[in-house]
Amino acid sequence: MTERDIIGIFGKMNSGKSSLMNLLTQQETSIVDPTPGTTADTKITLTEIHGLGPVKLLDTAGFDEQQDLGLKKRTKVITALKECDLVLLVIDPAAFEYETDKLILEEARSLDKQVIVVYNLFRISDKNRIDKVEELLTRLRVYHRIVVNAIDITHRQRLLEAILANYIPKNVTVDLLPFVEKGEFYILNIPMDEETPPGRYLRPQAMAEEYITRKWAFPVSYRMNLAKARAGDSSEKERWNGFVNSFTRRPKAIITDSQAMDIMKDWAPDDMALTTFSVMMINYMSRGRLNEFVNGIRALNSLVAGDHILIAEACNHSRIREDIGTVQIPNLLKKFYPEVIVNYTFGREFVDDLDMKKYKLVIHCGGCMISNQRMAARLRDLNATGVPITNYGIFLSYIHGEKILDRVIAPWDV
Ligand code: SF4
Repeated sequence: MTERDIIGIFGKMNSGKSSLMNLLTQQETSIVDPTPGTTADTKITLTEIHGLGPVKLLDTAGFDEQQDLGLKKRTKVITALKECDLVLLVIDPAAFEYETDKLILEEARSLDKQVIVVYNLFRISDKNRIDKVEELLTRLRVYHRIVVNAIDITHRQRLLEAILANYIPKNVTVDLLPFVEKGEFYILNIPMDEETPPGRYLRPQAMAEEYITRKWAFPVSYRMNLAKARAGDSSEKERWNGFVNSFTRRPKAIITDSQAMDIMKDWAPDDMALTTFSVMMINYMSRGRLNEFVNGIRALNSLVAGDHILIAEACNHSRIREDIGTVQIPNLLKKFYPEVIVNYTFGREFVDDLDMKKYKLVIHCGGCMISNQRMAARLRDLNATGVPITNYGIFLSYIHGEKILDRVIAPWDV
């Protein structure tokens, strides 16, 4: 069953929230009255937006209400904020005070909500105030904005178009491995180093195995001895050759741990596709935005001494000697770009968007431990500040040459 997307309308008292609700529903679902605090509670309307599907609209009370019931209303507004998928933040640019809008925005950010800023003009001349509002509240510039007069029905179409163009619906799902075919073999190359937890695969490995099996295809794991392979020990190469040649039908593709790309670029047979768990995961977690991560790698070509690069890992796993994020990738950066400065961020926290500008590139892990919403929020802030982002798998392929990267992304629709 398709879940309804929930769109919440938020803002100060008398900013025009109820008018916006009526504009969206094309009816008087919300009472419009200039008396402060007319929307006593969150009003809910079920409707259908063409191109998006069934939605639940929430028209919330003014967040800034000071009356007796104000605190209760605020609590309800926060509850609505938590519940909704898209925040329409309605701002009257002529209001002269934006503390409430700031509070709503901060709350929406901390909850990783998608936001569209709706400037509601009561007079055409109020449009001139928008730049001033954004000077006072610079974070508004991160979000898509639209300017409407909420009581003008002719503005409805533009509002709907802005929602359709800028909102990623929650029901959008992405195939984990879209190239997998029923009845075919797929090799999972899993080196299992000291960081591999006992008793289970890492999440991307487990997801790939489950996905391939569910598709009635056959996942086959190979534990590569990376130390031996890197040392040029012929026994590991022979073991690998014996493995890949043991199938009665040739496997269609190899999905490898990204850190093994230095070996797999030479060992993967030409008749098999080659990609990495990290590339698979970032495509999945970003809901199919792999092309942004592929484009981001070009930033390596323009690095100069003193540039900052951020390595971002979305979890806090225990890090042992040859850790990919803190040892292997920094070592490669040092080798190929000796004068860049490498910074790190781990876990659910990310750099504040206001500090983001100092980075020339973000290199992100597969992101399997954060939600799609959180990943989307990171991409939103990076896009708004113009900072490119790439991914471990893409970096570790590209560093061995453009052709290797082309091979790794060939199975994906980018
Ligand atoms: S969050 Fe990132 S570093 Fe942590 S296990 Fe997932 S892909 Fe690896």
